Amino acid sequence: AKEAGKNNCQFYAKGMSASAVNFLLLENDLRRGIEQDQLILHYQPQIDLASGALTGVEALVRWQHPERGLVSPAHFIPLAEETGLIVPLGEWVLKAACQQQKSWIDAGLNVPQMAVNLSTRQFRQRDFPGKVASVLRETGLPAQYLELEITESCAMEHASETINQLNQLNQMGLQLSIDDFGTGYSSLAYLKRFPIDKLKIDSSFIHDLPLDQNDAAIAKSIIGLAHNMQLTVVAEGVEQEHQVKWLCEQGCDQAQGFYYAKPMAAAQFVSHFTARGEF
Ligand code: C2E
Ligand code: CA
Ligand code: CA
Ligand code: CA
Repeated sequence: AKEAGKNNCQFYAKGMSASAVNFLLLENDLRRGIEQDQLILHYQPQIDLASGALTGVEALVRWQHPERGLVSPAHFIPLAEETGLIVPLGEWVLKAACQQQKSWIDAGLNVPQMAVNLSTRQFRQRDFPGKVASVLRETGLPAQYLELEITESCAMEHASETINQLNQLNQMGLQLSIDDFGTGYSSLAYLKRFPIDKLKIDSSFIHDLPLDQNDAAIAKSIIGLAHNMQLTVVAEGVEQEHQVKWLCEQGCDQAQGFYYAKPMAAAQFVSHFTARGEF
């Protein structure tokens, strides 16, 4: 019995260390991936609902893994957040997005704005506004071309620190938006104190529009709330024409989703919009 217990114990320990090793391997893999420039950005257009014009793009990171191919952020952002690698990863993304936007401007392409996602850890760094200022300086991108997205849950988690951080970024002349809106627990008292420009309605409320009565009510409320606060409102995950029509009727300002375009590599994005006569 004693022997069996010992074996069990060993078995358990082995199991534990196997998953720990696996985790370390993946972590090292991602660390190397960041250093060796295996990350790439794809760009998804944001469209003005009334005119169909391009209002900006959102940069979305992918990992070009040597063996596994193009890996979705859903598979490595959580790991990056857990290990802290999200900080260097986020710095890479910010710089690469600013460089890309600067080169589009220099080439005379009319991309009004470049939106970049921030993770909570990145945004909470004390010197984060200073880091953004350095990136703008190094890349030569004027601040008004950059938009930063933080999620509603990140924004509300330590709301008074959020105000402080957002105020510094706002004073630099950046655009600021709240992502995945409707999925967190917003305090309206805080929301009105955030110096933000945009609310992005989470795609979960868009998916079943306009048939789902609850989602329709939520989307309408968010559009009304945004407009009462003089904010631009963007619908995310728009896939179908009837969603576009409904959102237009409700006065939603902008939309983003597969209906217009999937996220694309830079060259593909440029040819897509050149073909449309947009540039
Ligand atoms: P998100 O910021 O909410 O980005 C929108 C996601 O929805 C993207 O997934 C986009 O490809 C997808 N999407 C856009 N339109 C549609 C549509 O019509 N239908 C459907 N089903 N999906 C649509 P992606 O690129 O896989 O990114 C997933 C999440 O990973 C992002 O969600 C964001 O939270 C995170 N992420 C991506 N890039 C970065 C980054 O550079 N930094 C950080 N911190 N997070 C990032
Ligand atoms: Ca986003
Ligand atoms: Ca502002
Ligand atoms: Ca979102």
